[in-house]
Amino acid sequence: MPTLAVAAAIFRSSPKLRSFSSLSKIMDNVTPPKPGFRAASSFVYDKAFVNGEWVAASSGKTFEVLNPANGKLIGSVPDMDATDTENAIKVAYKAFQSWKETTAKERSALLRRWGELMVENKEELSKLLTTEMGKPLAESAGELGYGAGFLELFAEEAKRVEGDIIQTPIKTRRLLVLKQPIGVSGMITPWNFPSAMITRKAGAAIAAGCTVVLKPAEDTPYSALALCELAKEAGIPPGVLNVVTCSRDNASQVGRALCESPLVTKMSFTGSTVVGKLLLQQCASTVKKVSLELGGNAPFIVFQSADVDAAVQGAMGAKFRCSGQTCVCANRIYVHESIYDEFVQKLAATVEKDLKVGDGIAPGTTQGPLINKKAVEKIEAHVQDAVTKGAKVVCGGKSKGGNFFEPTVLSEVTGDMRCSKEEIFGPIAGILRFKTEEEVVGLANATSSGLAGYFYSRDLGQIWRVAERLESGLVGVNEGVISVPDAPFGGWKESGLGREGGRYGIDEYLEMKYVCMGGLN
Ligand code: ADP
Repeated sequence: MPTLAVAAAIFRSSPKLRSFSSLSKIMDNVTPPKPGFRAASSFVYDKAFVNGEWVAASSGKTFEVLNPANGKLIGSVPDMDATDTENAIKVAYKAFQSWKETTAKERSALLRRWGELMVENKEELSKLLTTEMGKPLAESAGELGYGAGFLELFAEEAKRVEGDIIQTPIKTRRLLVLKQPIGVSGMITPWNFPSAMITRKAGAAIAAGCTVVLKPAEDTPYSALALCELAKEAGIPPGVLNVVTCSRDNASQVGRALCESPLVTKMSFTGSTVVGKLLLQQCASTVKKVSLELGGNAPFIVFQSADVDAAVQGAMGAKFRCSGQTCVCANRIYVHESIYDEFVQKLAATVEKDLKVGDGIAPGTTQGPLINKKAVEKIEAHVQDAVTKGAKVVCGGKSKGGNFFEPTVLSEVTGDMRCSKEEIFGPIAGILRFKTEEEVVGLANATSSGLAGYFYSRDLGQIWRVAERLESGLVGVNEGVISVPDAPFGGWKESGLGREGGRYGIDEYLEMKYVCMGGLN
């Protein structure tokens, strides 16, 4: 369909939604959209999305969403509770009865269209994402492309869910394996990838024939609600995708309602390890299938044979993307003692030359704000702790006011510092020394996390040895940014359960059924 015809179709099928003058003001430094397309502010709602409709909380309560770059109010959304969640679950359960009967081909077409709509509206959605989450516009656009990629992938995978016919050991029987949708899937998503974490989960679930009740992070509900509008426009039926918004105060009752409902048969969560463990416990009472994508403490190792310049570039992406606020960010940078000084000096020079802190909406910004004041305080405490224990601040090291923090390089970092032991989730590159491969692999694995690991080496034997020995679900070899929709994403150890993305992602939303047909002569 030509672009303008698509736009016209979108407008015909769009519900008449409010556009807030206060929001227009917040977004007024945003370039006007092309004629025929919606303004960014039209993606901003004051309602949640249940059964294909825009709904308020039954209590009538709302909570405010602020722009982390300037603290300004973006808007308010429903502060839903356990009752609202139970209602959404009932809606999703009813919708599941007919959604599971659709063909894979039908689901595939709708998912594909949903993904296309994300791409067609990428510019506006990116501005919205940056406004509520803070990451620079280019990164938001990257996330939108990544997020749409999951819908494309799962539109394809929907058609490849296949069962088996097993060789029978008994002549009068035939043995089959069916794969069927697991049912209503509860989801809780984080603020650092407010769009892609939704499509990575909901895309797989909907492709499999499941229906969804999703709670987005309280910091970033608008990207989730925008996806609802696009899902509706794509033709995804009412009740298949439901988004329940709530404040942090209500998160635990909404989470509990999802985890403990007998109508919900699958739970998927991305967020902190502490909350993941709690949800896993809550899911025990109904023995739900659970997927968890939790925190990491990624090692980033630079061996003696590495191309140091390439390793510096890799570290820039692995460490400073999203201002260091991703669960796969490099957390402990181990550099061989023979190239330690060179690496530290080159990394600091690149940080000072290439990184620009500011509002993510402003052109040229590479480092947006951290998500909130608490995150800044935590980063300050990490720097303070490291310096007290002997680390040197090579560059950065200070807050820049508001939620901004200077990208920081610390040298002489050791394993006893908080920035080595805990997930930093901010723009601090702490650099440790090592002598031998055996030593550094041992150090890399000496953590309860196991999400991502990276290393730079040009020694082929070492590349295989270390790739196989790292205890993590993802390994980047001579690459610092490795996530793609096509590959499985997930952690070992306390970093999680299950995999998302790739052809494996859909398995999380399928049940296997053995059918034995007997009496055959
Ligand atoms: P962060 O500290 O980075 O926000 P969290 O794990 O706390 O990471 O948050 C990730 C998601 O989990 C968010 O959607 C948040 O609202 C939700 N969440 C936080 N606490 C709970 C809880 N007790 N039960 C259910 N969901 C929760």
